[in-house]
Amino acid sequence: MNDHGEALRFVNPYSAPSKLRITDMRLADITDAPTKTTFIKIYTNQGICGFGEIRDGASRTYALMLKGRILGENPCNVDRLFQRIKQFGSHSRQAGGVSGIEVALWDLAGKAYGIPVYRMLGGKFRDRVPVYCDIPLNGFEPDGSVSADGVYDGKKIGGHIKERLCQNWAFYKIGGMEPLMYGKGYVGPGSFINDWDAARTRSDGLGKSADRLKYFEARNREYQYMNTEPSLTGIRLTEEALDALEEFTIEMRKVIGDKIQVAYDHVGRMGINDAIRMGRRLEKYNIAWMEDVFPWYRTDQYLRLSEATTTPLCTGEDIYLKENFEELLSSGAVDVIHPDVLTAGGILETKKIGDMAEAYGVPMAMHMVECPVGAMAAAHVGVATNNVMAIENCNHWVKWWNDIVIGKPETIFENGYITPSDLPGLGIVDFNDELLHEHADPRFPDIWSPTDEWDEEYSVDRHWC
Ligand SMILES: [Mg+2]
Repeated sequence: MNDHGEALRFVNPYSAPSKLRITDMRLADITDAPTKTTFIKIYTNQGICGFGEIRDGASRTYALMLKGRILGENPCNVDRLFQRIKQFGSHSRQAGGVSGIEVALWDLAGKAYGIPVYRMLGGKFRDRVPVYCDIPLNGFEPDGSVSADGVYDGKKIGGHIKERLCQNWAFYKIGGMEPLMYGKGYVGPGSFINDWDAARTRSDGLGKSADRLKYFEARNREYQYMNTEPSLTGIRLTEEALDALEEFTIEMRKVIGDKIQVAYDHVGRMGINDAIRMGRRLEKYNIAWMEDVFPWYRTDQYLRLSEATTTPLCTGEDIYLKENFEELLSSGAVDVIHPDVLTAGGILETKKIGDMAEAYGVPMAMHMVECPVGAMAAAHVGVATNNVMAIENCNHWVKWWNDIVIGKPETIFENGYITPSDLPGLGIVDFNDELLHEHADPRFPDIWSPTDEWDEEYSVDRHWC
């Protein structure tokens, strides 16, 4: 059967889009994919369901609190519902509910009208999107899983990249470089990193069986360290740490040569002065970009760094809504913009961000740590937006990742590309519930269980009296 015939199997021939109404929303939570993820199902009065995803590590409550505000509505009015709920989202994971629901609404609209999402975004600029491949700095075990103990060895990481060259990835990105940097020393007032490590150890060690208040106190202490902005800590990198980074890069380049693009992510906590030192050290090794060196809202710091080094800069995965990208783009502070469809505000908002970046002459790479629902949402934006250079894949070592959903394409990443399906909506037929059960988050072991207690969640939300 061709794709068109296949598509008709999954369209409700009695679907009446103008009479479609949202009747329910339920969730399924999994872990280890490679992180915690929550899937959304939005049910309707015509038997079709829309699929969404709350991005890695976010709270499911961000979506549940919106349920009462979309019940009874026609999901095909995607933008109207998005404008209603967007006030309940914020940056990074706090955008998870709004963005995940927006994706599910597009899926429903596509299923109701019998067309793929990219058609509703204006059609294609390309048939498939190049994918760039994450290489964790702690390296891979022989079976492809990520090793627990650190390698931090440029020769070995170069080897991991070289092994994957035949898979035709667009380029590579190394993540988790903090231990490489901090392992070689830092200086600063107090001992922020030591204190943070100690807090984490205390929190891990206590476990939930320990004294309840002590457990929560330790966990919240760690939370406070985790949420402290790097430039406020006064940490300075030693010259030895920068030597270690340069040596790592030289060893990696010896293995893969000069023509393979490699980006550096999670480069460590630092202020503007050390970021300039680092950028300058990396210039002659032609890396693709340094990512999220500062929090994204520090536009002035990005601008100072970009004026001080020719190493390209990239940020955006934590930014919610198009308007929050504008200052970074208009100031010329970044070389690549990097939104995540499940943080930016969903499918249409991410396309708008791409269009705005194009107007400022900046390409868009798409951050993507998602499961297949988020990946397909990114793919539909990716083919329908002109300046998209690549979509990220940092799940390639999770062997069951492709099987989370049923439907085409059978292999989501193929020969270094991702291709959106021509099936209606996102092109995902259903979830593989058996697999979801197997990997269910122990805190929420019952998948797709009723959420009736959220139906009446409603309040006076307008910003004036
Ligand atoms: Mg990143």
